[in-house]
Amino acid sequence: MEFIDSHAHLHFPAFSADGAEVLQRARDNGISLITVGTKFATSASGIDFAEKYDGVWCTIGLHPGHVHDHNFVDENEETHDRPTPEREFDEARYETLVSHPKVVAIGEFGLDYSRIPEGIDVEEFKNDQRNVARQQLRFATKHNKPVVIHCRGGATADVTGAHDDMRSLIAEEISKGGIERRGVIHCFTGTIDDAAKYAELGFLISITGIVTFGKSVASAVKEIPLAQMMIETDCPYLSPVPFRGKRNEPANVALVAQTIADLKGVSLEEVARVTSANAITLFRLS
Ligand SMILES: [Zn+2]
Ligand SMILES: [Zn+2]
Repeated sequence: MEFIDSHAHLHFPAFSADGAEVLQRARDNGISLITVGTKFATSASGIDFAEKYDGVWCTIGLHPGHVHDHNFVDENEETHDRPTPEREFDEARYETLVSHPKVVAIGEFGLDYSRIPEGIDVEEFKNDQRNVARQQLRFATKHNKPVVIHCRGGATADVTGAHDDMRSLIAEEISKGGIERRGVIHCFTGTIDDAAKYAELGFLISITGIVTFGKSVASAVKEIPLAQMMIETDCPYLSPVPFRGKRNEPANVALVAQTIADLKGVSLEEVARVTSANAITLFRLS
């Protein structure tokens, strides 16, 4: 059986001591993967990692969490004391990376209204994120790549609408003949209705280990057709049951697949076959 972990961060510092071993464990379990960039530095280092191994591809993009200064360092992701935000998507810089044969998509980028830095105007914050997302949709169109979208709603009741805003941006780009190859909403935590609206736009959704413990994701997964689905770990984050709180790794994508199989009453082979085919088609993996 072959699985594709459609969204991992295996080139992050979280794996600097044992990335090759972790990758070997994934391969022993029939798992290939896409390692995802989140800013210029991790886009470049993702290419360095992917070019060393068969069955590993990468993406380049600017995550919404790196657009503003958060006064916070994710040590799983970077080692700087205080990372400098990328206020704009610097197209010329990313242009130097995009033609590498291992780069299969633009992302992860999108909207994240869940962590708003103190002292910033909320509308300005959302606008900045929307601008940077729009720049990357255009960049993907220009280079005929699919997109990997990160979209998370607000932590509070007054900061909602991330999925609605994201769909407007996608629809706007499609209406101009853009993003012909479409893309995926990674780490999907929306409703069945959200998934259906993304399907109308030709977008896949990707399911993480949250499905092993999150009731709303599990109930949505029952209804969303497998034909619209991919699977991912988003490692080192989001470990599935029974590894919650530990560092996640690509080998665990099989647990995500098994949970989906159980929820939908289909075989593990079926989940592996359909989700892998979806990833191969979207990202043109060979
Ligand atoms: Zn993400
Ligand atoms: Zn990610």
